[in-house]
Amino acid sequence: MSGFVEVKNLTKIFPNGTKALDSLNLSIEQGEFFALLGPSGCGKTTLLRTIGGLEQVTDGEIYIDNTEVTYVEPGDRNIAMVFQDYALYPHMSVEENIGYPLKVRKIEKGLRAERILTAAQALQIQNLMDRKPSQISGGQQQRVAVARAMATRPNLYLFDEPLSNLDARLRLEARTFLKQLQRELGVTTILVTHDQSESLALADRMAVMELGTIRQLGSPAEFFHRPANLFVASFIGSTPMNLLDGKIVNGMVHVGDSHINVPFATKSASEGQNVVLGVRPEYVSVSSPQSGGFTGVVKVLENLGTHYLVSIDCNGLLVRGTVPDGEEPTPGSIISLLPDPKRTLLYDKKSGDLI
Ligand code: ATP
Repeated sequence: MSGFVEVKNLTKIFPNGTKALDSLNLSIEQGEFFALLGPSGCGKTTLLRTIGGLEQVTDGEIYIDNTEVTYVEPGDRNIAMVFQDYALYPHMSVEENIGYPLKVRKIEKGLRAERILTAAQALQIQNLMDRKPSQISGGQQQRVAVARAMATRPNLYLFDEPLSNLDARLRLEARTFLKQLQRELGVTTILVTHDQSESLALADRMAVMELGTIRQLGSPAEFFHRPANLFVASFIGSTPMNLLDGKIVNGMVHVGDSHINVPFATKSASEGQNVVLGVRPEYVSVSSPQSGGFTGVVKVLENLGTHYLVSIDCNGLLVRGTVPDGEEPTPGSIISLLPDPKRTLLYDKKSGDLI
């Protein structure tokens, strides 16, 4: 069976010659919350806009609910979109803005009022109902745009950074609401974000893009625990992963002066292979010098609340680990940090792929 949204060999070349999408394939299941992530300029917005019909494709096909929509007008695709430049109707009140798509769809007045109120309450804008868009802040305008999309109940939601203008607390609340409503309604949702924690928190599955192609596709847990290549490894995680150049010698990974035992990962590597050892600071702990980790001078301590992020300098090599609050070492002291072998990954230095 094919997915609810099918993107086949999609290429988009802008008139100035920029190739924003490069023969991209993607399949999204019915009811899935799917996140598109990647660095600025990788093509996330262009992909979303082509699915929404706001951008003409250069080549390839798009299907929604088993119907080809490649050349169908945006208004005929039964989707609701919220983009960075959330276009509200300036002459309408907040209430009229939220209700407008429902009016167009000839939803009965009572139901319309109910849907408007539910969405407005959830996004905490019910006290702004009579104002015009010019009389509310950017963050409030963004919430009106999300409420309008939410009240519509289409087949597919397309969100491009819909919460980017909200402050941190509101953003967390709005994100919980988005996820909850998406679950309740079961509407397939594609979210573009550059915030990897938002993507990990919301998505059932996600994709990381680079240069108009998908570099990895999978569940948030797969992204966190087994990034498929160095590009994704360096991109995902709120504290950056340790990525350390090394070589396989006698079945151990030699990194600088340290010999690290990673029996699980080295099984698939070959003797003499140049590798990059990857381990999240969360899986690196303070150990005794005899246990075979990295030994170095404590350079920096960063307070993460429940933990400290410790950076040690091992002869010019910087290694990071986390220690519980209250157990942090003294800056300048010499300590050892040991990666959890089960959580340590090896990448081929040349290809950048996970071994
Ligand atoms: P961001 O996170 O910064 O929004 P993005 O991943 O969404 O980035 P896109 O906006 O899809 O990236 O852009 C992909 C590429 O296409 C970029 O190189 C961008 O400069 C280019 N691009 C986007 N829109 C146009 C346009 N209308 N004309 C020409 N080039 C464009």
